[in-house]
Amino acid sequence: MAKIAFIGLGHMGGGMAPNLAKAGHEVHAFDLSEEALGVAVEKGCMRAGSTDEAVADAEVVITMLPAAQHVLDVQRTHVLGKAPASALLIDCSTIDVASARTIEEEASAKGYTMVDAPVSGGIAAAAGGTLTFMVGGSDEAFERAKPFLDPMAKAVIHAGGPGAGQAAKICNNMILGATMAATCEAFVLAKKLGLDLQTFFDISSKASGQSWSMTSYAPVPGVGPDTPADHDYEGGFAAALMLKDLKLAMDAAQSVGAYTPMGGEAEELYQRFVDRGGGSKDFSGIIKMIDDSWKAPE
Ligand code: NAD
Repeated sequence: MAKIAFIGLGHMGGGMAPNLAKAGHEVHAFDLSEEALGVAVEKGCMRAGSTDEAVADAEVVITMLPAAQHVLDVQRTHVLGKAPASALLIDCSTIDVASARTIEEEASAKGYTMVDAPVSGGIAAAAGGTLTFMVGGSDEAFERAKPFLDPMAKAVIHAGGPGAGQAAKICNNMILGATMAATCEAFVLAKKLGLDLQTFFDISSKASGQSWSMTSYAPVPGVGPDTPADHDYEGGFAAALMLKDLKLAMDAAQSVGAYTPMGGEAEELYQRFVDRGGGSKDFSGIIKMIDDSWKAPE
């Protein structure tokens, strides 16, 4: 069993870190939020007073932070040169491919092995240990990282070299954003054409319109499995995070000259929804903007 430093105990990290403790690891947890840290400690993690303290004699350092600037700052200021050079560094945050590659290069110049390992699956999958990890790094780095990701995962997949995990994540979420918007449009059109929405679901979920957004995450209340639509679009995957991922995808597309008009449309739609106050709603809530029934919170 290993000494693991876990930095960032928010919606995702707060569910993930306790699963490593449950698997028998000694998890030294830290978050700037005292409240988040307290919850992780209640669930079996050990309280660290700072990131420096958490990583001091860590064998593995896991970060789960909001965005690239936090990852670069925490790694450069508090991990590289502070954790033993033998420590394995695993960043599970969703960040841009270029930053992931930059920090991996800086880490490896100092003798560390590092992987990017962003996740698919939301807060429930984080708490339930059923995330899908997409891992970027060398074969050797992947083999070292996998046993520490397994207790938090239903699947751990080696995507390729450094940054490949982030590349897979943003490509996957570009599909998700575009298919969700298209699925919402189809339900709104179906209703206006007089179709019963359950009947349309029964047909489309077994026909070529089928997708995860349709079968597993239908954006209409009372249709398909229980989804955020059945809870006024609360919980689930926040529209603001979908917008973040679409922006990362569009920046990446621009950097390599890829033509991504559907991703661009999805980004514009989610930007409009977030600007109108929908950022904290589940991303399937965009159907309310598409059917024009969206009322921003007071
Ligand atoms: P969050 O904002 O809930 O949690 C981030 C945590 O990091 C916060 O508790 C914050 O206090 C802490 N933090 C920030 N700076 C810190 C620092 N310098 N030192 C220590 N702690 C610091 O975010 P989240 O929803 O848990 O998401 C984390 C990452 O996972 C993001 O990159 C997000 O895009 C990605 N992600 C989220 C979801 C989701 O459904 N929430 C799903 C997949 C991927």
